[in-house]
Amino acid sequence: MMQPKRRLLGLTVPLAPPPSSAHHAPQHPPPFKQLTSYPAPYYAPYPASQGLAATAALSAPLYPSAPGANQYSTPRSSQAPQAQLYQGPLGIGAPPAAVSAAPCTYATPSSGPQVAVNGQVSAVSPPVLQHYDQTQPVVTQSYKALEPNTGDCAGERPPSGTPSNSVHSSPGHHPGADSSTTGSSSPVPNNYESLEDGSYPDSSSLPPPPPSSKVAPPFGYSYPNLHPAYQQKAPSRTDTTPSYGGCNPPGYQPFSQPFPSMSQLSTTLGGLSGVPELQVEGLRPVNLLQERNILPPSPLPNPEPNLSADLRKVNCSPDTFRCTLTNIPQTQALLNKAKLPLGLLLHPFRDLTQLPVITSNTIVRCRSCRTYINPFVTFLDQRRWKCNLCYRVNDVPDEFMYNPVTRSYGEPHKRPEVQNSTVEFIASSDYMLRPPQPAVYLFVLDVSHSAVETGYLTIFCQSLLDNLDKLPGDTRTRVGFVTFDSTIHFYNLQEGLSQPQMLVVSDIEDIFLPTPDSLLVNLKESRELVKDLLSSLPGMFTHTRETHSSLGPALQAAFKLMSPTGGRVSVFQTQLPTLGAGLLQSREDPNLRSSTKGVQHLGPATDFYKKLALDCSGQQIAVDLFLLTSQYSDLASLACVAKYSAGSIYYYPSFHHVHNLPQLEKFQKDLQRYLTRKIGFEAVMRIRCTKGLSIHTFHGNFFVRSTDLLSLANVNPDSGFAVQMSIDESLADTSLACFQAALLYTSSKGKRRIRVHTLCLPVVSQLSDVFAGADIQAVTCLLANMAIDRSVSSSLSDARDALVNAVVDSLSAYRGTSNLQPAGLVAPSALRLFPLYVLALLKQKALRTGTSTRLDDRVFAMCEFKSQPLQHVMRLVHPNLYRVDDLSDQGALHLNDRMVPQPQLLQLTAEKLTREGAFLMDCGNLLYLWVGKSCSESFIRDVLGCPNHSSIPQNMSQIPEQDNPPSARMRTFLSWLQELRSFWPVLHVVKDDASAKTSFFQHLVEDRTESAFSYYEFLLHIQQQMSK
Ligand SMILES: [Zn+2]
Repeated sequence: MMQPKRRLLGLTVPLAPPPSSAHHAPQHPPPFKQLTSYPAPYYAPYPASQGLAATAALSAPLYPSAPGANQYSTPRSSQAPQAQLYQGPLGIGAPPAAVSAAPCTYATPSSGPQVAVNGQVSAVSPPVLQHYDQTQPVVTQSYKALEPNTGDCAGERPPSGTPSNSVHSSPGHHPGADSSTTGSSSPVPNNYESLEDGSYPDSSSLPPPPPSSKVAPPFGYSYPNLHPAYQQKAPSRTDTTPSYGGCNPPGYQPFSQPFPSMSQLSTTLGGLSGVPELQVEGLRPVNLLQERNILPPSPLPNPEPNLSADLRKVNCSPDTFRCTLTNIPQTQALLNKAKLPLGLLLHPFRDLTQLPVITSNTIVRCRSCRTYINPFVTFLDQRRWKCNLCYRVNDVPDEFMYNPVTRSYGEPHKRPEVQNSTVEFIASSDYMLRPPQPAVYLFVLDVSHSAVETGYLTIFCQSLLDNLDKLPGDTRTRVGFVTFDSTIHFYNLQEGLSQPQMLVVSDIEDIFLPTPDSLLVNLKESRELVKDLLSSLPGMFTHTRETHSSLGPALQAAFKLMSPTGGRVSVFQTQLPTLGAGLLQSREDPNLRSSTKGVQHLGPATDFYKKLALDCSGQQIAVDLFLLTSQYSDLASLACVAKYSAGSIYYYPSFHHVHNLPQLEKFQKDLQRYLTRKIGFEAVMRIRCTKGLSIHTFHGNFFVRSTDLLSLANVNPDSGFAVQMSIDESLADTSLACFQAALLYTSSKGKRRIRVHTLCLPVVSQLSDVFAGADIQAVTCLLANMAIDRSVSSSLSDARDALVNAVVDSLSAYRGTSNLQPAGLVAPSALRLFPLYVLALLKQKALRTGTSTRLDDRVFAMCEFKSQPLQHVMRLVHPNLYRVDDLSDQGALHLNDRMVPQPQLLQLTAEKLTREGAFLMDCGNLLYLWVGKSCSESFIRDVLGCPNHSSIPQNMSQIPEQDNPPSARMRTFLSWLQELRSFWPVLHVVKDDASAKTSFFQHLVEDRTESAFSYYEFLLHIQQQMSK
């Protein structure tokens, strides 16, 4: 039976927009509540029926996780076996790497036919266009099995594929009302639960967490008893060793080791006696209304946990792993008293200059809770170690007695695993469900008229050409390309062809792959064809008149193409999708951009993109979204495709390759980083913590596969994660709490690796110690994540109220602890920046009201908060301001051969600006250089290369390279700031009279604006709330 819908060219398909029923009515937030009334309890439970991101991910169903079960498989499993795609000649006949440097010479279709696609002429030359029609079907064995014939082309209908299980209970899903992705067969085993959990013979005795419907957890600290599903796989269930509460059980002689045992440590803890100065400083009362200069002149140091010097030395870097409270409260009751959120901030895959890599046949883990051996375990003797998370006593394997570093026997405590809190293991085949996948990259490119107009395609193709040899991978690396407008275009790049073949599929209602085996090709073998294609792509669509965008069908095609292997899909989109599955309509009312009332449409309009992402996640595919747009494109809906597949989101508003040079520079730099940064495939991450603590809410881009296992189809060095925790059982028996994050992934070279980070923190019983150890930056980041969720699940005003209440509650709680009752508003020094950071959050794009904010801009800022590591989030919240017209080498940082000036940090207020100065503001993803009108001409001449202030050009975004010391200092400082960021911060030079001035001044968060408090007013407001 031939599928009548499987036609290619020349077919006119009715492309009427689908019935509006395909879209869900957005949840309207409740009416705006006056800021002063605070009716909404901050930490009320989430409505379980709503929510995005982590909330929704958490309320996604729990899959039965029987070992080996394929959670994503669908009944149609007759697809060609995956082996077919893994095969292919390796390195045979790879063409010489001659570069044909003739970009864009194909604009004139002289050497090829003009081809009509759906009545529109497109100039296609070098790639041979294969014309398929009904009489010339391109049916392969496998695709017959792939594609059911529905014979239904009316409007937007679900293809008859079986949606994955996750679809049915995802929040807001209306069966049949919207199209789902076509689930294809799944050759990929998915049960990574059993994988990361290990391969010890007795691990099967651990029962999987009971599948159960989840109740959305409450927001914040007043957690009721958690649902069992949230609790850590309780070690006590299988733990045959009685817990001796962190102390050595009777009969064991503590083995001499480099670090004090827990019992030794506990004597140094407790109360404030013996607490280092830093922590006493954390309790110093600060009268906020009097002490105006609370911002430290240099970046805030990370709080030092109150640990012995030995433990401190080996503890995990706070840049990788940190906790909102560096002193863990002993009980939930104590935590509740402090009114501070408890959670972890992680940057697990960040670029490291030093990483101990361990190759060992035996990866030593606790037999009970599966914790990896780490610096904080206790060696009872040479043969036994006690787990620091569940306290089980384990045997030391023979192999572990040998220390490869010192090449000596009998010193298990000197092994690198026990000497470093961040290590990477080369995993054995025990940690694989299938042979490690190759690096597979698929690029899905918008080639509609508006896309081509922006000029991004040329930039992208050139950047990929430049970086083709730097794509992470090995000889197995595969690449493929899909372009789309109103139709979907595939490119046959099979080795041996003389030029790329373009295959057009015009039936977007029922996407199929014309030649499934030759669309993702070995990069080494087809390198010349790939280069040909990249050179000719921009020219092929120069004269396109296609205005439509069938993004959804293109993504469905990408899913099918990538399913057998998994990998990374990079999508470039420039407008609202207008055709086929997943089409969207404008939801933004520009008149409401500066509303002080609620902001609507922060959540997705359809769950199409989320469902597709979950399907992708199940096949180890991550989707990264690049949105380059001049108009509203409903990022709130589109972003879901990246959020739930562990992808990244890039956003370039008003992108144009000629008219917006700063964005052009940013796009180029971001691409450079994106294409060449480290990548991990088919990854999972699990976070374990000391018995008694449990994790209940996750923030970031991922899918929660089972209770606490994060599924990361891809992992990249720029992603951050946050989790919220509660204290289920008293920690009174222990003096230390530990946290371990284990990230299991496949490297781009096809090696299975496990990166393990372990963090150790003291447990305290005094409320004052909890305050003293508060890490205010971590607290702010976690609260920001919680507020973003709240703004989607409830309302923006609710989220804003909750943030204010967080400050009011914690300062009230602190006031309750102190005997002093001074007038004014007093904070412990550790929390002195809390009101300032919360005020800054309230003025940030994601959460502000009353200031004109485009909906997509707002949603992107929300995405950044949810997926960026702490350092980046803090720059977004509270930018760093420096005076730079007088940079000097005094106090400079010595980095290799460079002297990096370290100017003082200034408060974010216009009071700190003078017309005689030049000031640099680092906002994370952009830098402003504000040059005062009376700034010295020598600075303007030496550094900016202009004779005087009035000759500084508009939209200046580069500092010229000039041969003089001030210029060198400035450029060194700038490049130091710009280095190693996931998002390239573009420089804007702001003159006194430029339009960029407005956005520069919007970042001066201590100043009053029409719609928002000044810092001082905000303090008075907090004080007033506290006296209620
Ligand atoms: Zn254990």
